[in-house]
Amino acid sequence: MPTPASPSATLSAAPSGPAATLAVAVRALCEFTARSGDLDLRFTPSPTALEGILGHQLVAGRRPAGYETEIALQTTFESLTVRGRADGFDPARQRLEEIKTHRGDLARQPANHRALHWAQLKVYGWLLCEARGYEHLALALVYFDLGTQAETVFEEDWQADDLRAFFEDQCRRFTGWARQEAAHRAARDAALAHLPFPHPDFRPGQRALAQAVWRAARRGCELMAQAPTGIGKTVGTLFPLLRAAPGERLDKLFFLAARTPGRQLALDALARLREGLPAHLRVLELTARDKACEHPDKACHGDSCPLARGFWDRLPAARAQALAAPSMDQAGVREAALAQGVCPYWLSHELALWSDVVVGDYNYFFDTSALLHALAADREWRCAVLVDEAHNLVERGRQMYTATLHEVQLRGLRKTAPAPLKKPLDRLARAWREAVRGQATDYACHDDLPARLVQALQQAGAEVADWLAEHPAGPPADAGAAAAGELQAFYFDLLAFTRLADRFGDHSVFDVTRRLAHGKPSTELCIRNLVPAPHLAPRFATAHATVLFSATLGPADFYRDTLGLPAQTPWVEADSPFDAGQLAVRLVPDISTRWADRARSVGPIADLIAAQYEQAPGNYLAFFSSYDYLDAVASRLAQAHPQVPQWRQTAGMREPERHEFLARFTPGGQGVGFAVLGGSFGEGIDLPGDRLVGAFIATLGLPQVNPVNEKMKQRLQARFGAGFDYAYLYPGLRKVVQAAGRVIRSRQDRGVVWLIDDRFCRPQVRALLPAWWHPQVQPWAQFAAGLSDPARQREGQ
Ligand code: SF4
Repeated sequence: MPTPASPSATLSAAPSGPAATLAVAVRALCEFTARSGDLDLRFTPSPTALEGILGHQLVAGRRPAGYETEIALQTTFESLTVRGRADGFDPARQRLEEIKTHRGDLARQPANHRALHWAQLKVYGWLLCEARGYEHLALALVYFDLGTQAETVFEEDWQADDLRAFFEDQCRRFTGWARQEAAHRAARDAALAHLPFPHPDFRPGQRALAQAVWRAARRGCELMAQAPTGIGKTVGTLFPLLRAAPGERLDKLFFLAARTPGRQLALDALARLREGLPAHLRVLELTARDKACEHPDKACHGDSCPLARGFWDRLPAARAQALAAPSMDQAGVREAALAQGVCPYWLSHELALWSDVVVGDYNYFFDTSALLHALAADREWRCAVLVDEAHNLVERGRQMYTATLHEVQLRGLRKTAPAPLKKPLDRLARAWREAVRGQATDYACHDDLPARLVQALQQAGAEVADWLAEHPAGPPADAGAAAAGELQAFYFDLLAFTRLADRFGDHSVFDVTRRLAHGKPSTELCIRNLVPAPHLAPRFATAHATVLFSATLGPADFYRDTLGLPAQTPWVEADSPFDAGQLAVRLVPDISTRWADRARSVGPIADLIAAQYEQAPGNYLAFFSSYDYLDAVASRLAQAHPQVPQWRQTAGMREPERHEFLARFTPGGQGVGFAVLGGSFGEGIDLPGDRLVGAFIATLGLPQVNPVNEKMKQRLQARFGAGFDYAYLYPGLRKVVQAAGRVIRSRQDRGVVWLIDDRFCRPQVRALLPAWWHPQVQPWAQFAAGLSDPARQREGQ
């Protein structure tokens, strides 16, 4: 995710009074004080971190002997300590250098970018003059072009007195803000130390959960917590971390959710917690660009979007207004942004620097270019992370570290690409053909990446980057209107793929899929992550403490291994607030839902549903492994037991249709909603009271057996010695327990769950069901024998 360079600073000390010392890095100081003009995120292929380091080394290698690099500098002005590392110094010429790597024509560099670079260099200039007693100094901005390897140098001579005046002016402009922030931090921490629990008492299990989270914060470690629905997990995890924040000197708390409802629950819980606080707690909601953007038809720069024009000039007022507002949820940020004429999406990124709690999607911390993780690492924040419904992180992690390239895209580009790119794209096409040559099946999976292909991808990526840097407007119009967008999209895909290629290992596979595209045979190349652990482990290491919680976070080893948590990560299970008397769990031993037995199972399942409905009319959910299976049973039910009202989930339901499906679960209503397990209705929905009185689950939820899952099984077997369990059984049972969890949502609820398949009776499977359930084996034939409806009686005659 791109982010504008942040214009603000991290205060490294929380002073107890106005005279206490504050500390700030040079870059952060200048980004706060010396930024002005438009937000400009026009696409320019920016150097990677590695390219930046190599560029700096190359420049330093060209300098004479005695050249110094990475010079640590620090000084204090009044109560502000400023520190940083200057790039390079040539003592012979008494010239201090600030080195920047770039691609493309420097003439197109926005003036405010250059001004910021000069500001940094002048601050370093004064720090060096002061440290070494120089009365004057040459300052040089050195721009190193990664494409041509040429240097463009802008040099100025400065007197030490002038540099000092510039430096002091920056400090004065920053200190007022820094004091205000330090005062906020002190008041916040004083209030959090006595934060009251927002309810009269803890619910059963909630206190134990809160204590475990508190201990994790104190120890600075990871924690896995399995806690059932209804326990109050959100408050039970937020409260102890906020209480621990002052003692643990936590800068930030991140609450990460897999879905929007999870974010809303957190915002609601934080609103309640804030009611008991005498100080302001800044809670920010981060929203995806497609939901926060006010001008989706425009681009993020001042020539295109009015909310990018003068963004940095108006940011201070927008920031102040947002921080003072009662809420910085999506609506609150939008209101402040539009009142000051700035973009709400980019304002929210700026506000992340000054917020106490940030609520957002997983990707803000775990994705390849995650904003919160990058800030936490860069600013050395001490942060605590809460991962809501953490069972989702395994699959989401796999998606974040998987990248695909489509041959059809390359084919199209080779027709429209500008002439200088034809050669690298042709070379890539040849390496591509070579990589897939001889593949006899539609899908093939490999343990290694073809070296020639990777080389061709890297070369093509570098050449496309250079070309785009030289031609920011894209290919000429006669190359086709879509060409610029296509070239850019292809470049981003290449970049994602090659970055993962650099980190390729036994956590991933390289696979090739053949399919028809526009009627022609085509291939897709994919680096597919199977085990996200190696990618996620460094993210956990960045945080002071991380708490992963869910109603289904077991077995512990499975999540510990696949997510890359340290081996000693504690796992706790909170007591359920529900008792076995609330939920009758029936295991059906005489029906098999295996593929080969499906046709035979359709009638018995329909009869079972009808019998249960007759015994206790009400709203039920019935879950199946596929739409075909669902339709077969629903049709049989309609035919044999037409008195049972029913409605069905269909493939690709949109939001209004999903809403309609759920709206049929009215209090006191009657009927059966048919759904697929693992779909929209299997988790994350709340139907309390008699809106839902029971569920039928006619599948173990095992993922489909296909080449990808079989490869995953092999890999997990080799790595953890538990291939089938990790690839099939545990993910399947997790979906079953999640779906069954829809029935009991409060201590007043009563209901029944039917687990329909003989394999549910196996001890290994029963052991994966929640401890508070007391399942009973109930043959369907015996149960349905009591059915009195006319169809059943007809069958019995
Ligand atoms: S409103 Fe949309 S287009 Fe404009 S700067 Fe914000 S995100 Fe970019």
